Amino acid sequence: MAKVAIIGSGMGGLTAGNLLAKKGHDVTIFESHFMPGGYTAGFWRKGFYFESGTLSFESSSTMFKAMEQIGIKDKVTFIRHKARWISDDYDECIESYADFKKMLYNAYPDEKENLNRCFKKIDAMYKPIHATGRIPSADVCTGFSEKLDATVKSLWHGLREIKAALPYINMTTSEFLQQFFEKGSGVYNALYKCGYPEMSAGILGGAMNTLFEDYWTVKEGMQAWADALADNFQNLGGTLLMKAPVDMILTKDRKAIGVASKGRLHTADYVVSASDYKRTFLELLDDKTLIPDEMLARIEQSPVSEGIFTVYLGLDMSNAELRKRMKMHSLVLCNEEKNTDVNNADDRRYFEKAGFMAHSPSMENQNLSPEGKSSLMLQLMTNSGWMNNWGNGNRQEYRNLKESAKRALIIKIAKVIPDLESRIVFEEAATPLTYERYTGNSNGASSAWSWNPRKKFFKSPVSTNIETPVKNLYMGSCWATQIGGVPGALAAGYACAKKIK
Ligand SMILES: Cc1cc2nc3c(=O)[nH]c(=O)nc-3n(C[C@H](O)[C@H](O)[C@H](O)COP(=O)(O)OP(=O)(O)OC[C@H]3O[C@@H](n4cnc5c(N)ncnc54)[C@H](O)[C@@H]3O)c2cc1C
Repeated sequence: MAKVAIIGSGMGGLTAGNLLAKKGHDVTIFESHFMPGGYTAGFWRKGFYFESGTLSFESSSTMFKAMEQIGIKDKVTFIRHKARWISDDYDECIESYADFKKMLYNAYPDEKENLNRCFKKIDAMYKPIHATGRIPSADVCTGFSEKLDATVKSLWHGLREIKAALPYINMTTSEFLQQFFEKGSGVYNALYKCGYPEMSAGILGGAMNTLFEDYWTVKEGMQAWADALADNFQNLGGTLLMKAPVDMILTKDRKAIGVASKGRLHTADYVVSASDYKRTFLELLDDKTLIPDEMLARIEQSPVSEGIFTVYLGLDMSNAELRKRMKMHSLVLCNEEKNTDVNNADDRRYFEKAGFMAHSPSMENQNLSPEGKSSLMLQLMTNSGWMNNWGNGNRQEYRNLKESAKRALIIKIAKVIPDLESRIVFEEAATPLTYERYTGNSNGASSAWSWNPRKKFFKSPVSTNIETPVKNLYMGSCWATQIGGVPGALAAGYACAKKIK
């Protein structure tokens, strides 16, 4: 039995913790916050429940299989996350990739030839991924024949996927889409909104599959999922320490030997950092000389993914009334002024110009709002350095910027849900700085490293990299993958649990 210290109780830390405790190891999770879940958590205000950050995730069939193995699959209700897409040119409830394509063909008949050429390439990437999504990852298969079947099928579809995606792997989505459409046009914006800004065009097929076929949310809220994992971990004999920030990772003879938290030392045979990559090596590790200079420089300089700005609204409007207006629990609002660019940190009007999404946690579960009321969240990708890092540390300026961003989104959503402004009984917002403060993720990065193929930290955009130059120190968070996300966190947690025998 090994003694394992895990830093962080997000999806990565909770997955690793559960699997290691199940193997009989002596595991302690250290969490700075007072609730487990990290980005995949939620909170209550004035009787309304809101997701803190993550609204949805892809399953790739692996997620559910993993939750089954851990033993919590039936403790929460996973439901499909679907959205109504709205712009000046279309307004459709989308249930599948085929629906999305149909919407674009109907809205842009003059672009038929260009859409044909574009979708020929995207379809070639999407089809093998769609097929792979129905096969569980070999990592989570138990029986030999099941493992073999999964491996052979994954290999076959994987090869088809690589063949289709390889020509575009180092191309950004904007470069890819500009081969067919005018940048900033309606059709361009709809396709560009199917992923991260400037992400690799080689993952467009995967993004389509995720968004339209394999996107899930939790009926009881993400916090219920994190709580189920945390309870299960403790029932397996694991120790979960809340409000227990790790201040240092301790090493001896080039090997991790434990952590320090609130001035106390905790020895361990293994340390899993299920938290931010940069902080792990630049702040927590006691001896930086263990990291090669070239790697330290890369850790310092590599850009991270965009931040997210979220508005939380409690409405004096029943869920039934909100559903009548929204039709679906999520909306994607694609109207965007030309030249809107999340990378332009100096664009004061960014929030007035940009498209965004809306999601109501209470619409699918009335227990998440007071009787007769409903909850609504507005979210969009944001530059964490917007307007001189959100006011350059000036608290009043920060408050003003946050308020102006919040107002801009409320005014825009009120065009879809008339009368909304007069029905708001609670409002709050989170900036990338808020996310950074609560989770320690650098610059409030929403999903690990930059998704731009020219700014990669890891060589492969799809590998899981838990190994570190320090013996017995592993990365168990989404940061062990280039593009993170809930599946990235799960993959890293899994890989750590497999590594520690
Ligand atoms: C607004 C938003 C929307 C998102 N939407 C999606 C989505 O739709 N789909 C998707 O797949 N992903 C989404 N993501 C990304 C996804 O949430 C993350 O990639 C994933 O949840 C990360 O899990 P993790 O366990 O790696 O890390 P985190 O969730 O970041 O957890 C890390 C934990 O470590 C703790 N911690 C940090 N430092 C220390 C320390 N020194 N000591 C003790 N504890 C520490 C933190 O408090 C935190 O609880 C979204 C993220 C955001 C912010």
